[in-house]
Amino acid sequence: MAESLAGARRIVVKVGSSLVTDEGRGIDAQAIGNWSRQLAVLARDGREVVMVSSGAIAEGMKRLGWTTRPKELHELQAAAAVGQMGLVQMYETQLRSHGMASAQVLLTHADLADRERYLNARSTLLTLLQLQVIPVINENDTVVNDEIKFGDNDTLGALVANLVDADALVILTDQRGLYAADPRKDPAARFVDRAVAGDPELERMAGGAGSQIGRGGMITKILAAKRAAGSGASTVIAWGREPDVLLRLAAGESIGTLLVASTPKLAARKQWMADHLQLRGAVVVDDGAVRKLREEGKSLLPIGVLTVSGDFARGDVIAVRSQSGAEVARGLANYSSAEARLIARKPSSQIEGLLGYANEPELIHRDNLVLG
Ligand code: GLU
Repeated sequence: MAESLAGARRIVVKVGSSLVTDEGRGIDAQAIGNWSRQLAVLARDGREVVMVSSGAIAEGMKRLGWTTRPKELHELQAAAAVGQMGLVQMYETQLRSHGMASAQVLLTHADLADRERYLNARSTLLTLLQLQVIPVINENDTVVNDEIKFGDNDTLGALVANLVDADALVILTDQRGLYAADPRKDPAARFVDRAVAGDPELERMAGGAGSQIGRGGMITKILAAKRAAGSGASTVIAWGREPDVLLRLAAGESIGTLLVASTPKLAARKQWMADHLQLRGAVVVDDGAVRKLREEGKSLLPIGVLTVSGDFARGDVIAVRSQSGAEVARGLANYSSAEARLIARKPSSQIEGLLGYANEPELIHRDNLVLG
């Protein structure tokens, strides 16, 4: 089990509205500048970083001259659409001043529950990371309002950590971390510096799952940590204004509350594949492909595929079988069964000519593949 974030290679950082907008006073250039500087250092150090940032509504309210938060969801969504402009402009400017390119990604929970969109979002984000671009993600507030109602992007942060198989989720907030009791009511409340993510005791400490904590209180962070642990990511909840918080965490320092994932990443991914997904089809592959998968840890390319069975879509889980019928692996298909039949036994360079477009060169990428 991880003792710190020292070994974390892929890190999702989530910052909440009150930090980003200095309690609603407008986008805090200095704060975003500070995190951007740290993200740039981490990226140059070979880490892959993804930013999940709220603040669109708070900034939109300021731009629209609204002093109190409206009750109507459609007004909040309109404010988010206005404020998102300023939010990404600020990240773009600050990250660029530290030599980093950035990209805006707007997601919804439903996008990540849909297999095809999940795979599309995952491929896009992994491509951005490979290109050393820092994705800046927010909820797509125009079409949904899950995080507006409850969460302030805590859940989205965890879903993104699951999506990109992050090693760690860092939730930056306006509190130091988790206390065993509410420190406003009990000044002697014990500070929790380390616990196992998903321990039900944590939910009790944070006020109970059903409590009226409101949007983005400690409870949504505890639940986010539990969700992130589902794919093997540990979570840190820390104060966002702590000097060099991201750099110090990445250097292994203990800051805030560390909620450790008890299942390692690979085992968690296997579990996820086993639990959540039904087999929709199968491919039989030649001995060369079996060797590449088993011995070399490679992806499955169309050229190694002999036959395709079943009716599956992009993002469905399929079995990979050897010619003797033994299951070699399972994974998420990048192409539908109809497309797979057309590109089977063909080199990946011909995919575009055969289908009229090309997604990935692999039928199943090794990151989406679990050996049997
Ligand atoms: N996605 C929203 C934002 O960025 C969530 C925050 C909120 O509800 O205030 O503004």
